[in-house]
Amino acid sequence: MRILRLGSRGTDVMEIQGLLARIGYKPGPIDGIFGEQTRQAVIDFQRNNGLTPDGVIGPATYRILNPLLLGYDTYVVQPGDTLWRIAQKYYTTVSRIMTANPGIDPYRLRIGQRLTVPFGIDVVDTNIAYNYEVLERDIAGLKARYPFIETGSAGQSVLGRNLYYLKLGNGPNKVFYNGGIHSLEWLPVPVLMKWIENFSSAYAVSRNIRGYDVRSIWDQSTIYIIPMVNPDGIDIVLNGPQPDNPYYNQLLEWNDTGRPFSQVWNANTRGVDLNHNYDALWYEYQQLAEELGYGQPGPTRYPGPSPESEPETQAIVKFIREHDFRLIIAYHSQGQVIYWNFQNLAPPVARTIGEMFSNVSGYALDETTGTAAYSGMKDWFIQEYRRPGYTIETGLGVNPLPISQIPQIYDENEELLLLAAVV
Ligand SMILES: [Zn+2]
Repeated sequence: MRILRLGSRGTDVMEIQGLLARIGYKPGPIDGIFGEQTRQAVIDFQRNNGLTPDGVIGPATYRILNPLLLGYDTYVVQPGDTLWRIAQKYYTTVSRIMTANPGIDPYRLRIGQRLTVPFGIDVVDTNIAYNYEVLERDIAGLKARYPFIETGSAGQSVLGRNLYYLKLGNGPNKVFYNGGIHSLEWLPVPVLMKWIENFSSAYAVSRNIRGYDVRSIWDQSTIYIIPMVNPDGIDIVLNGPQPDNPYYNQLLEWNDTGRPFSQVWNANTRGVDLNHNYDALWYEYQQLAEELGYGQPGPTRYPGPSPESEPETQAIVKFIREHDFRLIIAYHSQGQVIYWNFQNLAPPVARTIGEMFSNVSGYALDETTGTAAYSGMKDWFIQEYRRPGYTIETGLGVNPLPISQIPQIYDENEELLLLAAVV
């Protein structure tokens, strides 16, 4: 991690501002710009943690910040410790420590025993730019807190980033949610991650969410979530194209819009639109794309040289084939609309479920037209399985939507994500 100081800018600055705010400091606006207020907050943090208060985030300060970013610390039991005392020390609860350490006997702590101790704050921060590094750290943090979450990788992106999945539940009814397909449309990534956190936290203590019995969902269904299907593209949007990217020079050529990548780039790092790369009327779409000027790699709508040409698409197709899902949802933005059909191949129940989704989210139920009507993930799923598959366009405005819309998008979709697992 790079050293951060007054004048530094970037998603890493934003992440630290977000953390400082969550643990009670006042870093000013969470905007990724290390200004005077952020510097003062860092100095306060350093003072409270016995560090040299120089306002610069270097290795010593990171050593204290890193466990907080992960959301937990590893604690070695000392003589006289009780779980309650350890909880006090970390501003957390005994229940959280019990969840993170299954099988632990609170009345028989052994001196020298290592415990995972979650802090009193949540892992997923919905106020920051959510890039791949944040995703990786949050998955590690959630897994430590909630050891019953299973995680793995469904494959790799063009640049070798993992397409992480998280698995919740053990039931026979298998469903699949994913997001972060289009780079500009990354807001659903933290929404899905926050939902995973809340669902897991409710499961740990047998709490209901919106009247849904989380334990019974867990037994009835298995929910697979790939929060970020396009990590390379999202990195280009949030951090800009990096000179060590082997496609760096081509990217500069392919973006012929005269506008920054942060405003226009929706494709993966090879300029392929990952929601036009599926084998569902792909050739028909390619013709149309040529006519409309999307026949070459670019920021959006180029379907690639062939169906499933991209490793991200191949990984998703393989993942779907391996699991025999009853239903899938692909999260995009924007428009507050739910697309449910493809070439009239969706089963009648797909419309009924779509209407239920519309009711709980407030989004309109609609059918895709124009270029949006071909070669997408849900199109292929519907064509292949004749089962319910949805594209959900969250939020309202011009992409990229502001981070401030995340809480509302979460609110609109929390019940939908519960319902989709049992419907
Ligand atoms: Zn999209």
